[in-house]
Amino acid sequence: MHCSEFRTALSALVDGEDLPPEMTGAALDAHLLGCAECGAWGERARRLRLLAARFDLG
Ligand SMILES: [Zn+2]
Repeated sequence: MHCSEFRTALSALVDGEDLPPEMTGAALDAHLLGCAECGAWGERARRLRLLAARFDLG
């Protein structure tokens, strides 16, 4: 699976949505353990989500 698929799943998680049907939480965790770039991407997405919530943008 490609990084972009994990990032789609991560952004769904951050938004409180369900994972895409082809993605499992275990696969996502395993990828994040081995891919620092997706780990950093997920952190950034989480921070942006918190910021948006604080300013009531979504
Ligand atoms: Zn990755």
